[in-house]
Amino acid sequence: MSQPGILYIVATPIGNLRDFSPRARETIERVDAVCAEDTRRSGQLLAHLGIAKPLIALHEHNEQTMAERLAVRLARGESLALISDAGTPLVSDPGYRLVRAARAGGITVSPVPGPCAAIAALSVAGLASDRFVFEGFLPAKPAARRERLTYLSNEPRTLVFYEASHRIADTLTDMSTVLGGDRPAVIARELTKLFETVLDGTLAQLCERIQADADQRKGEFVVVVQGAPEDVDARLSEGKRLYAKLSEHLPPSAAAKLAAEISGAPRKALYGSVAMDD
Ligand code: SAM
Repeated sequence: MSQPGILYIVATPIGNLRDFSPRARETIERVDAVCAEDTRRSGQLLAHLGIAKPLIALHEHNEQTMAERLAVRLARGESLALISDAGTPLVSDPGYRLVRAARAGGITVSPVPGPCAAIAALSVAGLASDRFVFEGFLPAKPAARRERLTYLSNEPRTLVFYEASHRIADTLTDMSTVLGGDRPAVIARELTKLFETVLDGTLAQLCERIQADADQRKGEFVVVVQGAPEDVDARLSEGKRLYAKLSEHLPPSAAAKLAAEISGAPRKALYGSVAMDD
């Protein structure tokens, strides 16, 4: 029986074709076929790069069925590359079902990393990047979008969103209303392309800027927003409440350890403490 093939997850440029890595090229040249969300668009990219390969459509609507079929082809020895229209597959793009099916079949899945709009934006935003939350696209409907923003309003980690040109103005207005106009944020537009623009300011300032200039509403966007200030007091009082409950059943050191893990409050501050609202 032949050796199983390998599934390569290959990043492609988010604008500038020179960001296509030599290893991405070698990989695509070596595989038997390339899976792509939009075969017409990816065909153009590969033609531009001088690569001819059979293309297999893999998108939201057929991924479930295709994943099983492609896992069989991989098991029989074919190697495949998955690419998306731009950037890193699986990041707000299809692919995880295929990866899951391949992994379940014992197939090696290997990344060929490269451009990703979220990471590129974060790298130039100048906002805390040690911890961040990737939120992808907010819901298109205004009520659902505001609800999601409300859910995120106390999130202390930096928030990273994708947005399309026809919604950027409305999304920024909602962000300013729900998260607060004075929240620092960055709009990264058309990264690596001719009209690359990175604007920073408060959400209120950015709203104004985008509304005043139609050119700033064109293209592709990543919005990076500073997280909410950490609520140290709330963590401590939650930690103390948990400690009080847990120490009814556990030794003090174990109760303090567990309460600290759950609440995020420092263990030392909880050990032997009394709940604030007792
Ligand atoms: N998989 C891609 C990645 O790795 O970034 C993202 C795919 S998602 C369907 C497309 C969205 O990514 C766009 O609507 C935009 O929000 C963002 N995006 C893609 N290219 C971009 C660019 N050059 N500049 C800014 N945002 C970009």
